[in-house]
Amino acid sequence: MIAESQGVILKVFPYSNTSVILNVFTKERGKLTFIAKGIRKPKNPLLSILQPFNLLEFQYYYKENRAMQLIKDADILISFDHLRNNLNTIFFASTILNIINRIFEQEYSNPIIFRLLYKILGYLSSNDTHNKLYFIFFLFHLSKQLGFMPNFERCNVCNMLFEYDAIFSLSSHSLICSNCNIHNVLDTDIIISNGSLSCLNLINTTNINKITELKISSINLKELYVFLISFMKCNMAYMDNIKGLEKIECMYHD
Ligand SMILES: [Zn+2]
Repeated sequence: MIAESQGVILKVFPYSNTSVILNVFTKERGKLTFIAKGIRKPKNPLLSILQPFNLLEFQYYYKENRAMQLIKDADILISFDHLRNNLNTIFFASTILNIINRIFEQEYSNPIIFRLLYKILGYLSSNDTHNKLYFIFFLFHLSKQLGFMPNFERCNVCNMLFEYDAIFSLSSHSLICSNCNIHNVLDTDIIISNGSLSCLNLINTTNINKITELKISSINLKELYVFLISFMKCNMAYMDNIKGLEKIECMYHD
């Protein structure tokens, strides 16, 4: 049957002399692998359309349990091409695509994460001065939607509201207060200041359409990055060795 889906291309590989294979995160069916036959020929308009980052509308021949779906046609719904003007922004956007590509199995749909993905790409494309904030927002809400988020208001052991710094201990996979930290602080423990905990709360409660109203200092962004990445790696094995993440880490430590 002929199906239609909105989607964002995560990865493109050349195939045979004239075709390409694409990993696409679609709104309706989650990640799908497509083949676009014969498009690597001069003047084929699909060649310039089938590139990562933009929000596209796909028409394709869908068959259940087939490893690859055949593309019939595609159009650009929203262009995020502007993000290609800045190398730093390209790193953030590509790493976001790599994360989605890595963590999603085929045909596991999640329209909320789909919306998060294209909205964040839109922000990256429209303004490159808040890339670090957009990336943190993406990591937080991705993790939350996938069902991984510790309680960041109360200590996981004594249930007291955090009044001071919290400690993310790799051994307990959760946030605890310093009173409950029975051992001395280990090198692997991550300390999150009370200010950064408040920022997490703000990120949690702010609608994505109001993201530009968030004001978070680069010190807090760095702490949140270190915490969120460690937390995600602890809970999701597939967060290891994501291409691009090392480069992004350097940007938070600048
Ligand atoms: Zn405690």
